[in-house]
Amino acid sequence: MTAATGIDAISVDLGEGVRAFFTTASGGVSPAPWAGPSGPGLNLGLNVSDDVVRVRENRARLGVVLDGAPVAFATQVHSDRVIPLGSRDRSRWSTEPAPESAGHGDALVTAEPGLGLGVLVADCVPVLLADPEAGVVGVAHAGRKGTAAGVALRALESMTERGARPDRVRAAVGPAVCGRCYEVPDELRDEVSAAVPSAFARTSWGTPALDLPAAVSAQLSGAGVAVTRVRRCTLEDETFFSHRRATARGTATGRQAGVVALA
Ligand SMILES: [Zn+2]
Repeated sequence: MTAATGIDAISVDLGEGVRAFFTTASGGVSPAPWAGPSGPGLNLGLNVSDDVVRVRENRARLGVVLDGAPVAFATQVHSDRVIPLGSRDRSRWSTEPAPESAGHGDALVTAEPGLGLGVLVADCVPVLLADPEAGVVGVAHAGRKGTAAGVALRALESMTERGARPDRVRAAVGPAVCGRCYEVPDELRDEVSAAVPSAFARTSWGTPALDLPAAVSAQLSGAGVAVTRVRRCTLEDETFFSHRRATARGTATGRQAGVVALA
């Protein structure tokens, strides 16, 4: 999908009346090191040393794709905490893209139409969830800790409390560092794969690794959810921001987003 604004995003089908997409590093106004591979970058993160005015412009471009719907972001803390947003929380969305005004947590859930939920990532797994029939959507930020704690399942539970049914929920697991690239110490692999066996992986060079996209997909499939995976590795593919790639180069990098909204 390429919108009129030029933001370069990968849209996913989560059912009728649901808008869902993953942004890439391209299509914004940020210069290097927050740029995309062939032009200014769509850095959506406020805490990565980019200029706040540019981040606001980049975030405003999400609203254009969503017909003006504002997008709420949480202050992500690698937890399994879900923040439900209802009609009384409208001030937590802002048409003037604001700092992470939704609160501290790693999943957002809402049944409010016309209001977007966003999750910021640069190697961690962005998860989008929707039950179009119940009219409930959610996002989750699944890094190593969040995946081990089951943050995507906590989001699903919160959606279920609001009328969603797991067998009707559709999920999209977005671009993230893959199991062939995400090297971790042996003990961390043991710890996470004890909680989620599908996380167990080996790097392409033969050392211990974690496959977080596979782990999150297995958690959701196990709960009865239909999962679509966008099989793109953020570390290998310069289309995306990658925290690990940038750290290896000694530079900063941006954050891309997964976004879902009920029309
Ligand atoms: Zn990879």
